[in-house]
Amino acid sequence: DQSQPRKPSWIRVKAPTSQGYKDTRDILRNNRLSTVCEEAGCPNVGECWSAGHATMMIMGEICTRGCSFCNVTTGKPNALDVFEPGRVAHAVATLGLKHVVITSVDRDDLDDGGAEHFAQTIRAIRHRSPGSTIEVLTPDFLKARADALETVLAARPDVFNHNLETVPGLYPTVRPGARYFASLRLLQRVKELDPAMFTKSGIMVGLGEDRQGVMQVMDDMRAADVDFITIGQYLQPTPKHHRVDRFVTPEEFSGYEKSAWGKGFLMVSATPLTRSSYHAGEDFTRLRAA
Ligand code: SF4
Ligand code: SF4
Repeated sequence: DQSQPRKPSWIRVKAPTSQGYKDTRDILRNNRLSTVCEEAGCPNVGECWSAGHATMMIMGEICTRGCSFCNVTTGKPNALDVFEPGRVAHAVATLGLKHVVITSVDRDDLDDGGAEHFAQTIRAIRHRSPGSTIEVLTPDFLKARADALETVLAARPDVFNHNLETVPGLYPTVRPGARYFASLRLLQRVKELDPAMFTKSGIMVGLGEDRQGVMQVMDDMRAADVDFITIGQYLQPTPKHHRVDRFVTPEEFSGYEKSAWGKGFLMVSATPLTRSSYHAGEDFTRLRAA
């Protein structure tokens, strides 16, 4: 796409070739699991999979929403696979994950938004790998019945992650179907329902937001008691997706990182290649040890 700014030198993607990468890929394939690593064409897949880290995407590969930054197919999803929680738990145990991140497509077609399936997946992992910590990266449950969030929390994940993705002004073009303040409220409700649970959220930059907007999102997150923040560069998955407005420089990312620490987040990751799940395990383990 000619209208795109050129990819700068600091966005480098190493081709995945290591044995560790292949082992991870095989375990995921053998258990018929989808990952956001592949679905999103994540630039870190070589690094993460070599170390055995993958973010599994449950409830199918078809999403009821159509966010303009996301490469997942929009449409009518398939029925839930009741054996999926067991396969996820098996893969987590085989990969020997100390910290696992589970995410999903949005399931507006289900009465509970898929909350019970999330809960079953958390329980299955706990049962097989009691020493592993579990992070869920959930949809907003905007159209689900009122107790969907409680259903997920009852399974006691260690970290509850829900991404705001961008500044409120860009929601109509970036995240149609979602509501900025509903997502913020979801994060706040997690803390109200379970003050001991860690909450996490993230945004992409380079979509057309300005610095002031990013600062406001950070303040909104802190007002909702969000503990961890991730900020990364948006990359366009295909020419049909939202264009990259600009590449935010590493210096600007450092500035965001500094501001986020200053605002009181317990964990901050703000680099061009930061993704919601990038180094999530290492960062969380370090935090718990501190
Ligand atoms: Fe997968 Fe997250 Fe690593 Fe990307 S950063 S490869 S999505 S685990
Ligand atoms: Fe992609 Fe999630 Fe949006 Fe669905 S809700 S289109 S999976 S970002």
